[in-house]
Amino acid sequence: MKPRVAMFAFTCCEGCGLAVIECENELLDVLNLIDLVEWREGLSEKAEEYDIALVEGSISTHADEKKIKEIREKAKVLVAIGACATTGGLNALKNRYGMHEVKQMVYGKAGEQFDTIPARPLRAVVPVDLELHGCPIDRTEFLRVVRDVALGKTPKLPDYPLCVECKKKENVCVFFRGMTCMGPVVRAGCGAICPTFGDGCEGCRGLVSNPNENAHKETLAEHGLTVTEVLQHFDMFNSYTEDHLA
Ligand code: SF4
Ligand code: SF4
Ligand code: SF4
Repeated sequence: MKPRVAMFAFTCCEGCGLAVIECENELLDVLNLIDLVEWREGLSEKAEEYDIALVEGSISTHADEKKIKEIREKAKVLVAIGACATTGGLNALKNRYGMHEVKQMVYGKAGEQFDTIPARPLRAVVPVDLELHGCPIDRTEFLRVVRDVALGKTPKLPDYPLCVECKKKENVCVFFRGMTCMGPVVRAGCGAICPTFGDGCEGCRGLVSNPNENAHKETLAEHGLTVTEVLQHFDMFNSYTEDHLA
């Protein structure tokens, strides 16, 4: 029997779901291995039972919190997809302010009717089996991971700095052009797409594990930087911290 797969979205732009829709023909190949039973962006069906839950978005309302706990109870495997779900992503920027202030800023007096709490990645609320990084996710990586999970394999995901991929492509480091780049501390896997097209990396794939030990220190040394200094710039996608929840 094929594993039943359901996709869910919480607070986000659903751009990772859109990236999945854009897989087109390759998605049809994966559909031979799974039974897609629920996906708001791609199907009208709903399902009460499923084996694998693919979840994009941050948890930023009490209703989200209740729903992700229900999903966790039902799914044998829970995969967080995209920066919103894995790091809190852009949504966590609001955590720097009080929730009352945030509601006032966006909706004025009408804001009080909205249920909003500090945005959290999924793993801050429920145990997560796998995290697929990026804003949006990398399509090739998504297809490979879903194939592996459907076949009961544990997918291998990169946990080394982006600079490794960037240097393999023989890109000119953007630091030499007076720009900044988070590549020495950011998890690889996107093919260093931003530096390849002349932009610095903003860190949408999150930090490599233990950045103090695993940073690409040669690149930092070339530009007279330390891990701490680079991390000070690292807030667009990675500003979530448990301190904001206190
Ligand atoms: S990670 Fe980016 S593309 Fe994906 S849902 Fe969040 S904001 Fe949208
Ligand atoms: S710092 Fe950025 S541009 Fe420079 S090598 Fe690393 S990833 Fe590439
Ligand atoms: S280069 Fe950096 S910001 Fe760009 S897609 Fe890769 S991880 Fe994300």
